[in-house]
Amino acid sequence: MNLPQSDALVFFGATGDLVFKKIFPALYAMERRGHLKVPVIGVARSDWTIKQFQARARASVNKLDGFDAGAFARFQKRLRYIRGDYAAAATHAALRKELGKAAHPLHFLAIPPSVFEGVIEGLGQSGCARGARVVIEKPFGRDLPSARKLSATLHKVFDESCVFRIDHYLGKESVQNILVFRFANTFLEPFWNRHYVESVQITMAEKFGVEGRGGFYEESGAIRDVIQNHLLQVVGFLAMEPPTTTNHQSIRAEQVKVFRKMRPLRRADIVRGQFRGYRREDGVAPDSKVETFAAARLHIDSPRWKGVPFFIRSGKRLPTTMTEVLVMLKPPAIGKLCAGQANYVRFRLSPDVTIAIGARVKRPGEELIGDPTELQVVNHPHGVEMGAYERLLGDAMVGDGTLFAGQAGVEAAWAVVQPILGSVTPVHLYKPGTWGPPEAEKLTTGICDCDSPFWLFPQGKERKSKLSDAQTIRKSSRRVGRFQKRL
Ligand code: NDP
Repeated sequence: MNLPQSDALVFFGATGDLVFKKIFPALYAMERRGHLKVPVIGVARSDWTIKQFQARARASVNKLDGFDAGAFARFQKRLRYIRGDYAAAATHAALRKELGKAAHPLHFLAIPPSVFEGVIEGLGQSGCARGARVVIEKPFGRDLPSARKLSATLHKVFDESCVFRIDHYLGKESVQNILVFRFANTFLEPFWNRHYVESVQITMAEKFGVEGRGGFYEESGAIRDVIQNHLLQVVGFLAMEPPTTTNHQSIRAEQVKVFRKMRPLRRADIVRGQFRGYRREDGVAPDSKVETFAAARLHIDSPRWKGVPFFIRSGKRLPTTMTEVLVMLKPPAIGKLCAGQANYVRFRLSPDVTIAIGARVKRPGEELIGDPTELQVVNHPHGVEMGAYERLLGDAMVGDGTLFAGQAGVEAAWAVVQPILGSVTPVHLYKPGTWGPPEAEKLTTGICDCDSPFWLFPQGKERKSKLSDAQTIRKSSRRVGRFQKRL
Protein backbone atom coordinates (compact mmCIF):
# COMPACT_ATOMS: atom_id res chain seq x y z
CA MET A 1 0.00 0.00 0.00
CA ASN A 2 1.64 3.26 -1.11
CA LEU A 3 0.58 5.99 1.27
CA PRO A 4 1.63 9.64 1.08
CA GLN A 5 4.13 10.94 3.64
CA SER A 6 2.84 10.97 7.23
CA ASP A 7 1.26 14.26 8.21
CA ALA A 8 1.15 13.79 12.01
CA LEU A 9 3.17 11.90 14.61
CA VAL A 10 1.42 10.23 17.56
CA PHE A 11 3.31 8.71 20.49
CA PHE A 12 1.44 6.38 22.84
CA GLY A 13 3.38 6.13 26.11
CA ALA A 14 4.64 9.70 25.68
CA THR A 15 5.53 9.97 29.38
CA GLY A 16 7.87 6.96 29.23
CA ASP A 17 11.56 6.20 29.17
CA LEU A 18 11.90 5.55 25.44
CA VAL A 19 10.26 8.82 24.43
CA PHE A 20 12.42 10.71 26.90
CA LYS A 21 15.72 9.06 25.99
CA LYS A 22 15.37 8.50 22.25
CA ILE A 23 12.29 10.05 20.68
CA PHE A 24 12.50 13.64 21.90
CA PRO A 25 16.18 13.94 20.88
CA ALA A 26 15.38 12.44 17.47
CA LEU A 27 12.45 14.81 16.85
CA TYR A 28 14.44 17.81 17.98
CA ALA A 29 17.30 16.80 15.64
CA MET A 30 14.77 16.56 12.79
CA GLU A 31 13.51 20.02 13.67
CA ARG A 32 17.05 21.41 13.60
CA ARG A 33 17.61 19.98 10.14
CA GLY A 34 14.30 21.39 8.95
CA HIS A 35 12.90 17.87 8.44
CA LEU A 36 10.04 18.05 10.94
CA LYS A 37 6.94 19.76 9.59
CA VAL A 38 4.04 17.99 11.32
CA PRO A 39 2.26 18.10 14.69
CA VAL A 40 3.56 15.76 17.42
CA ILE A 41 0.85 14.35 19.69
CA GLY A 42 1.71 12.58 22.94
CA VAL A 43 -0.83 10.18 24.47
CA ALA A 44 -0.50 8.74 28.00
CA ARG A 45 -2.45 8.10 31.19
CA SER A 46 -0.47 10.53 33.37
CA ASP A 47 -2.41 13.62 34.32
CA TRP A 48 0.01 16.06 32.69
CA THR A 49 -0.61 19.50 31.24
CA ILE A 50 0.88 20.51 27.91
CA LYS A 51 3.35 22.65 29.88
CA GLN A 52 4.56 19.55 31.76
CA PHE A 53 4.90 17.64 28.51
CA GLN A 54 6.90 20.47 26.96
CA ALA A 55 9.09 20.66 30.07
CA ARG A 56 9.77 16.94 29.76
CA ALA A 57 10.85 17.44 26.14
CA ARG A 58 13.10 20.30 27.20
CA ALA A 59 14.69 18.21 29.96
CA SER A 60 15.36 15.48 27.41
CA VAL A 61 17.25 17.64 24.92
CA ASN A 62 18.65 20.33 27.22
CA LYS A 63 21.96 18.63 27.78
CA LEU A 64 22.64 17.79 24.16
CA ASP A 65 25.73 19.39 22.62
CA GLY A 66 25.04 22.83 21.14
CA PHE A 67 21.48 23.20 22.37
CA ASP A 68 19.63 25.34 19.83
CA ALA A 69 16.98 27.39 21.63
CA GLY A 70 15.37 28.55 18.38
CA ALA A 71 14.94 25.01 17.08
CA PHE A 72 13.55 23.89 20.43
CA ALA A 73 11.04 26.76 20.44
CA ARG A 74 9.79 25.64 17.02
CA PHE A 75 9.67 22.01 18.16
CA GLN A 76 7.80 22.88 21.35
CA LYS A 77 5.04 24.55 19.34
CA ARG A 78 4.33 21.26 17.56
CA LEU A 79 3.68 19.36 20.81
CA ARG A 80 0.17 18.36 21.91
CA TYR A 81 -0.79 16.12 24.82
CA ILE A 82 -3.82 13.87 25.26
CA ARG A 83 -4.46 12.27 28.63
CA GLY A 84 -6.41 9.03 28.78
CA ASP A 85 -6.47 5.26 29.14
CA TYR A 86 -4.97 3.56 26.14
CA ALA A 87 -7.95 1.35 25.35
CA ALA A 88 -10.68 3.91 26.16
CA ALA A 89 -12.90 5.06 23.29
CA ALA A 90 -12.78 8.62 24.69
CA THR A 91 -8.97 8.71 24.29
CA HIS A 92 -9.17 7.68 20.66
CA ALA A 93 -12.02 10.09 19.98
CA ALA A 94 -9.91 12.90 21.44
CA LEU A 95 -7.02 11.79 19.24
CA ARG A 96 -9.19 11.78 16.13
CA LYS A 97 -10.26 15.33 16.97
CA GLU A 98 -6.69 16.48 17.59
CA LEU A 99 -5.53 14.98 14.30
CA GLY A 100 -7.87 17.39 12.54
CA LYS A 101 -7.19 17.31 8.81
CA ALA A 102 -4.22 14.96 9.16
CA ALA A 103 -5.12 11.92 7.03
CA HIS A 104 -1.94 9.85 7.30
CA PRO A 105 -0.74 9.81 10.90
CA LEU A 106 2.17 7.69 12.10
CA HIS A 107 1.28 6.01 15.40
CA PHE A 108 4.27 5.00 17.52
CA LEU A 109 3.48 2.49 20.29
CA ALA A 110 6.06 3.34 22.98
CA ILE A 111 4.12 1.30 25.54
CA PRO A 112 4.53 -2.15 27.10
CA PRO A 113 3.43 -4.93 24.70
CA SER A 114 0.67 -5.92 27.15
CA VAL A 115 -1.16 -2.69 26.20
CA PHE A 116 -0.79 -3.04 22.40
CA GLU A 117 -4.02 -4.84 21.69
CA GLY A 118 -6.30 -2.21 23.26
CA VAL A 119 -4.52 0.61 21.44
CA ILE A 120 -4.65 -1.12 18.07
CA GLU A 121 -8.33 -1.92 18.43
CA GLY A 122 -9.03 1.65 19.58
CA LEU A 123 -7.19 3.05 16.56
CA GLY A 124 -9.22 0.81 14.28
CA GLN A 125 -12.61 1.59 15.83
CA SER A 126 -12.04 5.36 16.02
CA GLY A 127 -10.92 5.69 12.41
CA CYS A 128 -7.44 6.88 13.50
CA ALA A 129 -5.90 3.87 11.72
CA ARG A 130 -7.34 4.77 8.34
CA GLY A 131 -4.53 5.83 5.99
CA ALA A 132 -2.08 5.49 8.89
CA ARG A 133 1.18 3.72 9.65
CA VAL A 134 2.13 2.13 12.95
CA VAL A 135 5.54 1.71 14.56
CA ILE A 136 6.20 -0.87 17.25
CA GLU A 137 9.31 -1.48 19.30
CA LYS A 138 11.08 -4.73 20.00
CA PRO A 139 10.48 -7.22 21.54
CA PHE A 140 8.30 -8.58 18.72
CA GLY A 141 6.96 -11.39 20.87
CA ARG A 142 8.82 -13.67 23.27
CA ASP A 143 8.94 -16.67 20.96
CA LEU A 144 7.55 -17.85 17.64
CA PRO A 145 3.91 -18.37 18.76
CA SER A 146 3.68 -14.99 20.54
CA ALA A 147 5.33 -13.22 17.56
CA ARG A 148 2.63 -14.70 15.32
CA LYS A 149 -0.08 -13.62 17.75
CA LEU A 150 1.30 -10.06 17.80
CA SER A 151 1.31 -9.91 14.00
CA ALA A 152 -2.26 -11.22 13.92
CA THR A 153 -3.31 -8.43 16.31
CA LEU A 154 -1.61 -5.80 14.15
CA HIS A 155 -3.03 -7.19 10.93
CA LYS A 156 -6.60 -6.94 12.23
CA VAL A 157 -6.24 -3.21 11.65
CA PHE A 158 -3.07 -2.49 9.65
CA ASP A 159 -1.78 -3.88 6.38
CA GLU A 160 1.74 -5.35 6.79
CA SER A 161 3.10 -2.61 4.49
CA CYS A 162 1.98 -0.05 7.09
CA VAL A 163 3.63 -1.83 10.05
CA PHE A 164 7.15 -0.70 10.99
CA ARG A 165 8.94 -2.86 13.56
CA ILE A 166 11.84 -0.88 14.95
CA ASP A 167 15.05 -2.71 15.58
CA HIS A 168 17.05 0.46 16.15
CA TYR A 169 20.19 -1.50 15.40
CA LEU A 170 19.28 -1.40 11.72
CA GLY A 171 19.18 2.40 11.91
CA LYS A 172 22.84 2.62 12.80
CA GLU A 173 25.09 4.04 10.09
CA SER A 174 27.65 1.38 10.82
CA VAL A 175 25.17 -1.45 10.26
CA GLN A 176 23.87 0.09 7.04
CA ASN A 177 27.48 0.42 5.93
CA ILE A 178 27.71 -3.37 5.85
CA LEU A 179 25.11 -3.33 3.09
CA VAL A 180 26.70 -0.48 1.17
CA PHE A 181 30.24 -1.81 1.55
CA ARG A 182 29.17 -5.23 0.34
CA PHE A 183 27.07 -4.23 -2.63
CA ALA A 184 28.67 -0.96 -3.76
CA ASN A 185 32.12 -2.55 -4.11
CA THR A 186 32.65 -5.12 -6.83
CA PHE A 187 36.05 -6.15 -5.45
CA LEU A 188 34.39 -7.84 -2.47
CA GLU A 189 32.02 -10.15 -4.31
CA PRO A 190 34.58 -12.68 -5.66
CA PHE A 191 35.80 -13.65 -2.19
CA TRP A 192 32.58 -13.18 -0.20
CA ASN A 193 31.69 -16.87 -0.11
CA ARG A 194 32.55 -20.31 1.25
CA HIS A 195 35.51 -20.69 -1.12
CA TYR A 196 37.44 -17.84 0.50
CA VAL A 197 35.79 -17.07 3.84
CA GLU A 198 36.81 -19.35 6.65
CA SER A 199 34.59 -18.06 9.44
CA VAL A 200 32.58 -15.05 10.54
CA GLN A 201 32.62 -13.88 14.10
CA ILE A 202 30.41 -11.24 15.69
CA THR A 203 30.89 -9.95 19.20
CA MET A 204 28.56 -7.54 20.98
CA ALA A 205 30.13 -6.84 24.35
CA GLU A 206 28.84 -4.66 27.16
CA LYS A 207 31.03 -3.68 30.09
CA PHE A 208 27.98 -2.70 32.14
CA GLY A 209 25.43 -5.00 33.78
CA VAL A 210 21.65 -4.70 33.98
CA GLU A 211 21.78 -1.21 35.56
CA GLY A 212 18.78 -1.51 37.87
CA ARG A 213 16.59 -3.10 35.14
CA GLY A 214 16.89 -6.61 36.57
CA GLY A 215 13.12 -7.13 36.51
CA PHE A 216 13.00 -6.27 32.80
CA TYR A 217 16.04 -8.43 32.02
CA GLU A 218 14.58 -11.43 33.82
CA GLU A 219 11.87 -11.46 31.15
CA SER A 220 14.35 -11.47 28.29
CA GLY A 221 18.01 -12.55 28.69
CA ALA A 222 20.73 -12.18 26.06
CA ILE A 223 19.18 -14.49 23.45
CA ARG A 224 15.84 -12.68 23.37
CA ASP A 225 17.33 -9.23 24.01
CA VAL A 226 20.00 -9.06 21.31
CA ILE A 227 20.72 -12.35 19.55
CA GLN A 228 17.29 -13.08 18.04
CA ASN A 229 17.10 -9.53 16.71
CA HIS A 230 20.19 -7.27 16.53
CA LEU A 231 22.81 -9.92 15.88
CA LEU A 232 20.75 -12.05 13.52
CA GLN A 233 19.95 -8.87 11.56
CA VAL A 234 23.67 -8.23 11.21
CA VAL A 235 24.22 -11.83 10.07
CA GLY A 236 21.41 -11.29 7.56
CA PHE A 237 23.18 -8.25 6.06
CA LEU A 238 26.54 -10.05 5.97
CA ALA A 239 25.20 -13.23 4.39
CA MET A 240 22.40 -12.13 2.05
CA GLU A 241 22.56 -12.35 -1.73
CA PRO A 242 22.61 -9.08 -3.67
CA PRO A 243 19.06 -7.68 -3.71
CA THR A 244 17.54 -7.23 -7.16
CA THR A 245 16.80 -3.58 -6.39
CA THR A 246 17.56 -1.26 -3.48
CA ASN A 247 13.93 -1.01 -2.46
CA HIS A 248 13.08 -2.37 0.94
CA GLN A 249 11.03 -5.34 -0.26
CA SER A 250 14.04 -6.70 -2.17
CA ILE A 251 16.43 -6.19 0.73
CA ARG A 252 14.07 -7.69 3.29
CA ALA A 253 13.32 -10.64 1.00
CA GLU A 254 17.01 -11.51 0.70
CA GLN A 255 17.50 -11.20 4.44
CA VAL A 256 14.58 -13.52 5.15
CA LYS A 257 16.09 -16.12 2.79
CA VAL A 258 19.23 -16.11 4.96
CA PHE A 259 17.21 -16.75 8.13
CA ARG A 260 15.34 -19.55 6.41
CA LYS A 261 18.60 -21.17 5.35
CA MET A 262 19.90 -21.09 8.92
CA ARG A 263 19.68 -24.36 10.78
CA PRO A 264 17.57 -24.02 13.93
CA LEU A 265 20.02 -23.91 16.83
CA ARG A 266 20.70 -27.19 18.60
CA ARG A 267 21.71 -27.41 22.24
CA ALA A 268 25.28 -28.14 21.18
CA ASP A 269 25.38 -24.85 19.22
CA ILE A 270 24.80 -22.58 22.22
CA VAL A 271 26.53 -21.75 25.49
CA ARG A 272 24.72 -19.60 28.03
CA GLY A 273 26.41 -17.73 30.86
CA GLN A 274 25.45 -15.55 33.79
CA PHE A 275 27.81 -13.10 35.52
CA ARG A 276 28.44 -13.71 39.18
CA GLY A 277 26.37 -11.27 41.22
CA TYR A 278 23.45 -11.05 38.75
CA ARG A 279 21.18 -12.94 41.16
CA ARG A 280 21.71 -10.22 43.78
CA GLU A 281 20.40 -7.48 41.44
CA ASP A 282 17.02 -5.86 42.24
CA GLY A 283 14.15 -7.70 40.59
CA VAL A 284 16.22 -10.82 39.86
CA ALA A 285 15.21 -14.22 41.25
CA PRO A 286 17.80 -15.67 43.68
CA ASP A 287 17.89 -18.86 41.60
CA SER A 288 17.56 -17.16 38.19
CA LYS A 289 18.66 -19.18 35.16
CA VAL A 290 18.42 -16.21 32.79
CA GLU A 291 21.54 -15.76 30.65
CA THR A 292 23.50 -12.50 30.64
CA PHE A 293 25.88 -14.02 28.08
CA ALA A 294 25.29 -16.25 25.10
CA ALA A 295 27.58 -17.62 22.42
CA ALA A 296 26.21 -19.46 19.42
CA ARG A 297 27.46 -21.23 16.33
CA LEU A 298 25.23 -20.72 13.32
CA HIS A 299 25.15 -22.71 10.10
CA ILE A 300 23.73 -21.23 6.92
CA ASP A 301 22.98 -23.95 4.39
CA SER A 302 23.09 -21.75 1.30
CA PRO A 303 25.33 -22.33 -1.71
CA ARG A 304 27.36 -19.29 -0.69
CA TRP A 305 27.89 -20.17 2.98
CA LYS A 306 27.54 -23.91 3.48
CA GLY A 307 30.30 -25.05 5.82
CA VAL A 308 31.30 -21.57 7.03
CA PRO A 309 30.68 -21.19 10.76
CA PHE A 310 29.12 -17.93 11.95
CA PHE A 311 30.04 -17.47 15.60
CA ILE A 312 28.09 -14.87 17.55
CA ARG A 313 28.38 -13.90 21.18
CA SER A 314 27.02 -11.20 23.39
CA GLY A 315 27.23 -10.53 27.07
CA LYS A 316 27.04 -8.11 29.95
CA ARG A 317 29.87 -7.32 32.38
CA LEU A 318 32.48 -8.22 29.77
CA PRO A 319 35.87 -6.45 29.60
CA THR A 320 34.71 -3.71 27.24
CA THR A 321 31.73 -2.19 25.41
CA MET A 322 31.92 -2.65 21.66
CA THR A 323 30.42 -4.49 18.72
CA GLU A 324 32.63 -5.93 16.02
CA VAL A 325 32.35 -8.24 13.03
CA LEU A 326 35.37 -10.14 11.77
CA VAL A 327 35.19 -11.97 8.46
CA MET A 328 38.21 -14.25 8.33
CA LEU A 329 39.55 -15.40 4.98
CA LYS A 330 41.35 -18.66 4.38
CA PRO A 331 45.15 -18.60 4.47
CA PRO A 332 46.98 -18.21 1.16
CA ALA A 333 48.33 -21.22 -0.70
CA ILE A 334 51.97 -20.09 -0.50
CA GLY A 335 52.16 -20.31 3.24
CA LYS A 336 55.84 -19.36 3.35
CA LEU A 337 55.14 -15.87 2.11
CA CYS A 338 52.68 -15.19 4.83
CA ALA A 339 53.28 -17.95 7.36
CA GLY A 340 49.62 -18.93 7.35
CA GLN A 341 48.42 -15.42 8.09
CA ALA A 342 44.93 -14.89 6.84
CA ASN A 343 43.36 -11.73 5.49
CA TYR A 344 40.24 -10.46 7.09
CA VAL A 345 37.56 -7.78 6.81
CA ARG A 346 36.67 -6.07 10.04
CA PHE A 347 33.58 -3.98 10.74
CA ARG A 348 33.65 -2.14 14.06
CA LEU A 349 30.01 -1.20 14.52
CA SER A 350 30.26 0.63 17.83
CA PRO A 351 31.23 2.68 19.74
CA ASP A 352 33.54 3.89 16.95
CA VAL A 353 32.94 3.04 13.31
CA THR A 354 35.62 1.31 11.30
CA ILE A 355 35.79 -0.83 8.21
CA ALA A 356 39.22 -2.35 7.80
CA ILE A 357 40.96 -4.97 5.72
CA GLY A 358 43.72 -7.06 7.24
CA ALA A 359 46.46 -7.55 4.64
CA ARG A 360 50.16 -8.42 4.46
CA VAL A 361 52.98 -6.28 3.09
CA LYS A 362 56.60 -7.22 2.58
CA ARG A 363 58.78 -6.97 5.63
CA PRO A 364 61.78 -4.72 4.79
CA GLY A 365 64.88 -6.81 4.25
CA GLU A 366 66.13 -9.67 2.18
CA GLU A 367 63.49 -12.24 2.97
CA LEU A 368 60.16 -12.49 1.19
CA ILE A 369 57.98 -12.42 4.29
CA GLY A 370 54.67 -10.65 4.67
CA ASP A 371 54.00 -8.55 7.75
CA PRO A 372 50.45 -7.83 8.87
CA THR A 373 48.96 -4.44 8.26
CA GLU A 374 45.46 -3.07 8.31
CA LEU A 375 43.93 -0.84 5.65
CA GLN A 376 41.21 1.25 7.23
CA VAL A 377 38.59 2.45 4.81
CA VAL A 378 36.23 4.07 7.29
CA ASN A 379 37.15 5.35 10.65
CA HIS A 380 35.21 8.06 12.34
CA PRO A 381 34.47 8.53 15.99
CA HIS A 382 31.14 7.95 17.62
CA GLY A 383 28.76 10.87 17.28
CA VAL A 384 29.25 11.78 13.62
CA GLU A 385 26.35 9.67 12.50
CA MET A 386 22.70 10.63 12.24
CA GLY A 387 20.92 9.16 15.26
CA ALA A 388 19.26 5.81 14.63
CA TYR A 389 15.84 7.01 15.78
CA GLU A 390 16.02 10.16 13.69
CA ARG A 391 16.71 8.09 10.59
CA LEU A 392 14.10 5.47 11.41
CA LEU A 393 11.36 7.97 12.18
CA GLY A 394 12.08 9.77 8.91
CA ASP A 395 12.00 6.48 6.98
CA ALA A 396 8.76 5.33 8.61
CA MET A 397 7.10 8.65 7.76
CA VAL A 398 7.80 8.13 4.05
CA GLY A 399 6.98 4.41 4.22
CA ASP A 400 10.53 3.14 3.61
CA GLY A 401 10.78 -0.17 5.47
CA THR A 402 14.37 -1.08 4.49
CA LEU A 403 15.71 -0.65 8.01
CA PHE A 404 12.74 -2.24 9.76
CA ALA A 405 12.07 -5.87 10.53
CA GLY A 406 9.26 -7.48 8.53
CA GLN A 407 6.90 -10.14 9.84
CA ALA A 408 8.47 -12.92 7.78
CA GLY A 409 11.97 -12.01 9.00
CA VAL A 410 10.90 -11.77 12.63
CA GLU A 411 9.23 -15.18 12.51
CA ALA A 412 12.13 -16.80 10.63
CA ALA A 413 14.58 -15.41 13.22
CA TRP A 414 12.44 -16.76 16.09
CA ALA A 415 12.39 -20.15 14.36
CA VAL A 416 16.22 -20.22 14.51
CA VAL A 417 16.40 -19.65 18.28
CA GLN A 418 13.13 -21.34 19.29
CA PRO A 419 14.69 -24.75 20.15
CA ILE A 420 17.13 -23.26 22.68
CA LEU A 421 14.88 -20.70 24.41
CA GLY A 422 14.43 -20.96 28.16
CA SER A 423 16.49 -23.24 30.33
CA VAL A 424 16.98 -26.17 27.98
CA THR A 425 20.76 -25.66 28.26
CA PRO A 426 22.69 -25.01 31.48
CA VAL A 427 23.69 -21.51 32.46
CA HIS A 428 27.37 -21.25 33.44
CA LEU A 429 28.57 -18.60 35.88
CA TYR A 430 31.38 -16.26 34.81
CA LYS A 431 33.46 -13.67 36.55
CA PRO A 432 32.52 -10.06 35.73
CA GLY A 433 35.19 -8.46 33.55
CA THR A 434 35.98 -11.68 31.65
CA TRP A 435 34.90 -12.87 28.19
CA GLY A 436 32.12 -15.07 29.54
CA PRO A 437 32.25 -18.64 30.81
CA PRO A 438 35.13 -20.87 29.66
CA GLU A 439 32.49 -23.28 28.32
CA ALA A 440 31.95 -20.84 25.41
CA GLU A 441 35.28 -21.98 24.04
CA LYS A 442 33.88 -25.47 23.65
CA LEU A 443 31.79 -24.24 20.76
CA THR A 444 34.99 -24.56 18.78
CA THR A 445 37.53 -26.34 20.91
CA GLY A 446 35.30 -29.33 21.47
CA ILE A 447 35.06 -29.82 17.74
CA CYS A 448 38.47 -28.99 16.40
CA ASP A 449 40.65 -30.23 19.31
CA CYS A 450 41.98 -26.75 19.90
CA ASP A 451 44.29 -26.35 22.84
CA SER A 452 43.39 -22.70 23.48
CA PRO A 453 40.43 -20.39 22.90
CA PHE A 454 39.27 -19.82 19.38
CA TRP A 455 37.34 -16.65 20.01
CA LEU A 456 39.10 -13.67 18.53
CA PHE A 457 39.44 -10.67 20.75
CA PRO A 458 38.25 -7.33 19.49
CA GLN A 459 40.87 -5.07 18.04
CA GLY A 460 42.16 -2.26 20.23
CA LYS A 461 43.64 -1.74 23.61
CA GLU A 462 40.83 -3.44 25.52
CA ARG A 463 41.93 -6.76 24.05
CA LYS A 464 42.76 -9.28 26.77
CA SER A 465 44.72 -11.69 24.67
CA LYS A 466 48.44 -11.97 25.27
CA LEU A 467 48.84 -12.69 21.57
CA SER A 468 49.40 -9.97 19.03
CA ASP A 469 46.52 -9.42 16.58
CA ALA A 470 48.50 -11.25 13.94
CA GLN A 471 49.17 -14.25 16.15
CA THR A 472 45.59 -14.40 17.36
CA ILE A 473 44.21 -14.30 13.86
CA ARG A 474 46.73 -16.81 12.51
CA LYS A 475 46.02 -19.36 15.24
CA SER A 476 42.30 -18.94 14.94
CA SER A 477 42.41 -19.25 11.22
CA ARG A 478 44.09 -22.66 11.45
CA ARG A 479 41.53 -23.89 13.91
CA VAL A 480 38.57 -22.89 11.81
CA GLY A 481 40.17 -24.70 8.89
CA ARG A 482 40.23 -27.91 10.91
CA PHE A 483 36.71 -27.27 12.17
CA GLN A 484 35.36 -26.84 8.65
CA LYS A 485 36.80 -30.13 7.47
CA ARG A 486 34.65 -31.87 10.06
CA LEU A 487 31.37 -30.26 9.05
P1 NDP B 1 7.93 2.52 30.01
O1 NDP B 1 7.91 1.43 31.03
O2 NDP B 1 8.64 3.78 30.34
O3 NDP B 1 6.39 2.80 29.65
C1 NDP B 1 5.98 3.82 28.74
C2 NDP B 1 4.70 4.44 29.26
O4 NDP B 1 3.67 3.46 29.18
C3 NDP B 1 4.79 4.86 30.70
O5 NDP B 1 5.28 6.17 30.80
C4 NDP B 1 3.37 4.72 31.15
O6 NDP B 1 2.71 5.94 30.84
C5 NDP B 1 2.80 3.62 30.30
N1 NDP B 1 2.75 2.34 31.01
C6 NDP B 1 3.76 1.73 31.65
N2 NDP B 1 3.35 0.56 32.17
C7 NDP B 1 2.05 0.43 31.84
C8 NDP B 1 1.07 -0.57 32.07
N3 NDP B 1 1.35 -1.68 32.74
N4 NDP B 1 -0.17 -0.36 31.58
C9 NDP B 1 -0.46 0.72 30.88
N5 NDP B 1 0.45 1.71 30.63
C10 NDP B 1 1.67 1.56 31.09
O7 NDP B 1 8.42 1.89 28.65
P2 NDP B 1 9.60 2.35 27.71
O8 NDP B 1 9.38 3.77 27.33
O9 NDP B 1 10.88 1.96 28.32
O10 NDP B 1 9.41 1.39 26.47
C11 NDP B 1 8.32 1.52 25.57
C12 NDP B 1 8.38 0.37 24.57
O11 NDP B 1 9.63 0.43 23.90
C13 NDP B 1 8.32 -1.01 25.22
O12 NDP B 1 7.65 -1.86 24.33
C14 NDP B 1 9.79 -1.42 25.35
O13 NDP B 1 9.94 -2.81 25.35
C15 NDP B 1 10.36 -0.79 24.09
N6 NDP B 1 11.78 -0.47 24.19
C16 NDP B 1 12.25 0.44 25.09
C17 NDP B 1 13.58 0.78 25.12
C18 NDP B 1 14.12 1.81 26.08
O14 NDP B 1 15.29 2.17 25.95
N7 NDP B 1 13.33 2.31 27.02
C19 NDP B 1 14.55 0.17 24.18
C20 NDP B 1 13.95 -0.77 23.26
C21 NDP B 1 12.62 -1.06 23.27
P3 NDP B 1 1.42 6.45 31.61
O15 NDP B 1 1.38 5.79 32.95
O16 NDP B 1 1.58 7.93 31.66
O17 NDP B 1 0.34 6.03 30.71
